[in-house]
Amino acid sequence: MYYGYGYGFDWTIILVLIGALVSGIASLNVRGTFNRYNKMMNYRGITSNQVAEHILHAAGIYDVRIERVRGNLTDHYSPKEKVLRLSDSVYGRTSVAAIGVAAHECGHAIQHQEEYAPLKLRSASVPLANIGSWVSWPVILVGLFIGSTPLAQFGIFLFTFVVVFQLITLPVEFDASARALRILEQDNILEGEEHKGATKVLKAAAMTYVAALFTTILQLLRLVLIVNGRRRD
Ligand SMILES: [Zn+2]
Repeated sequence: MYYGYGYGFDWTIILVLIGALVSGIASLNVRGTFNRYNKMMNYRGITSNQVAEHILHAAGIYDVRIERVRGNLTDHYSPKEKVLRLSDSVYGRTSVAAIGVAAHECGHAIQHQEEYAPLKLRSASVPLANIGSWVSWPVILVGLFIGSTPLAQFGIFLFTFVVVFQLITLPVEFDASARALRILEQDNILEGEEHKGATKVLKAAAMTYVAALFTTILQLLRLVLIVNGRRRD
């Protein structure tokens, strides 16, 4: 595809490669950490579902269903449906990793119940983020194609919605993990090495969100360079 440099190598592709590398490392790291602590069973033999129910009930939450969802690391809490979905390697498991992830998702359910501001802001910005990720590229390409810098810049503006969304996601994710780890410790669900293991898993998971933000910022930088480079032609 022609991005407007005329000739030679589009060196801005390096930014995309760096982003892909960082995201790849974060993804491998969370999988590796999860697998390591998926082999460490909590010595009480409590399952992730029992832990989730305990945490939800302790917070006075009785209307959130726990369901099983296919895949690996596909665990999530859906505020719309009030459903906490645990993946195959988490649902009903007794590993320290599974319990950490289940407790993290409960953290989101508690955020929802408490109307935690960053979560509300995140949910509210989903439509804008979707517009940003789906519409920005076509707008930028059309702008470059017809030689309209303002249109291309408008596309970049739309893309910043994605960056903002990923930025808002960070406090939501960090807070869910902090709540989870606090409860696991306070209620003596995980102790010592078990708690350390769950902490490592949740930290690795949090890093994937940081990596995603970093990657998107590099993409934004690349778009700015391409559109400004075009303007100088
Ligand atoms: Zn989360």
